[in-house]
Amino acid sequence: MATLAEPETASALDEFRASVRAWLAENFPPALKGKDNAMSAVEGPAELSPEEAAWKKAMGEKGWGVPTWPSEYGGGGLGRAEAKVLAEEMARIGAWNPIGGMGVMMFGPTLLEYGSEEQKREHIPAIARGEVRWCQGYSEPNAGSDLANLQTFAEDMGDHYLVNGQKTWTSGGQWADKCFCLVRTDKSQKQGGISFLLIDMNAPGVEVKPIRMISGMSPFCETFFTDVKVPKSDRVGEEGQGWTIGKRLLQHERTNLSGAGARLMPGGPSLADLAKTYVGTDKDGLIADRELRARITRFEMDWRAFLLTAMRVQAESKAAGGVSEVSSILKTIGTKLGQERSELIIEIAGLQGLGWEGEGFTREEITATRAWLFGKATTIYGGSTEIQNNVIAKRILGMLDHQ
Ligand SMILES: Cc1cc2nc3c(=O)[nH]c(=O)nc-3n(C[C@H](O)[C@H](O)[C@H](O)COP(=O)(O)OP(=O)(O)OC[C@H]3O[C@@H](n4cnc5c(N)ncnc54)[C@H](O)[C@@H]3O)c2cc1C
Repeated sequence: MATLAEPETASALDEFRASVRAWLAENFPPALKGKDNAMSAVEGPAELSPEEAAWKKAMGEKGWGVPTWPSEYGGGGLGRAEAKVLAEEMARIGAWNPIGGMGVMMFGPTLLEYGSEEQKREHIPAIARGEVRWCQGYSEPNAGSDLANLQTFAEDMGDHYLVNGQKTWTSGGQWADKCFCLVRTDKSQKQGGISFLLIDMNAPGVEVKPIRMISGMSPFCETFFTDVKVPKSDRVGEEGQGWTIGKRLLQHERTNLSGAGARLMPGGPSLADLAKTYVGTDKDGLIADRELRARITRFEMDWRAFLLTAMRVQAESKAAGGVSEVSSILKTIGTKLGQERSELIIEIAGLQGLGWEGEGFTREEITATRAWLFGKATTIYGGSTEIQNNVIAKRILGMLDHQ
């Protein structure tokens, strides 16, 4: 993957910092300061305000939503030191990255590694500009953890495949333009019979049915394919190579879902500030409840240790040429910490942490309740904690299967 050379001297970086600062001053609408929409893996249906649309367009054209992707495909072409400067300068003025979603977090990096030149030229620039929404068609009713059991079948019709089958838990399926999908092209082999296809969600024969979650949202769907025509040019890699490519994509997914790559932790007031507001302070100005104080401190220490570890692992992975199995550790710990934080917020808020709707609760309180409920999914999606523990035991610790 081509990137620009790292600036070698501190003064080159200083010059770059000055140019970033000037560009941000010209292009980041001050009205959006701090209004971080916490880009998640799933892009929702929300309409953009004129300021948000202008900001997204500017960042997309500059390639800075994906700062380290190669510039020949519309990325920023920045080295790591420059990308860090960009992130620092954005944080300094409360600016945020408007380009996200599964295309950025999972599919793009995988296509850069495995896609043909034509596929990269067709798909990567549109992802870098935030113009195309991607969803993930992996899971099926009987193929979640046991993903290699998937049955959606792509029949070889010469120049195209005819796809039939059902996917489930397709996050953002109802809003997506395209789906990166694992399908079976050979029924006689398990992993070796799987291929990686790119399916147009608007193609005839694709149908989505949204599923409602405990948090009240319907961010994902059942997806049905009936005689969907997919040109062979939309297969990534060789026929039967889908398992290898699909697993690589999962490593990117896990790193992002850990909260280390994306911002799983919502912004807003710190736990300590929330506790001071809801629980009150003692005569020394400390959180009145000693036990709660100790738990918040312990959580903050764990979270900082996790972030530092994640940063180290990411730097090491980049130096070694990509993400690794360590993403399973990050996902397991990051999602557990995310759930702990939500639990703490609900406890701190007391009865105010039980709001679902209505006038007795602020918007933040209702959001906290729903985030706590949604958080239950984080240790399931992207590979459940039990499955991550198996990966860690076998691939990292080298332990044998118990059978
Ligand atoms: C909010 C949400 C969004 C999702 N989005 C998507 C998406 O966009 N695209 C997509 O393709 N999929 C998506 N998924 C599906 C997700 O990847 C699967 O739910 C997940 O892989 C678990 O599979 P399953 O639900 O079939 O559970 P199962 O595999 O049936 O597992 C049930 C339980 O058994 C445990 N278990 C299973 N096998 C083992 C084993 N060998 N050893 C130990 N324990 C085991 C599991 O850990 C789990 O606790 C999403 C799921 C959720 C909840």
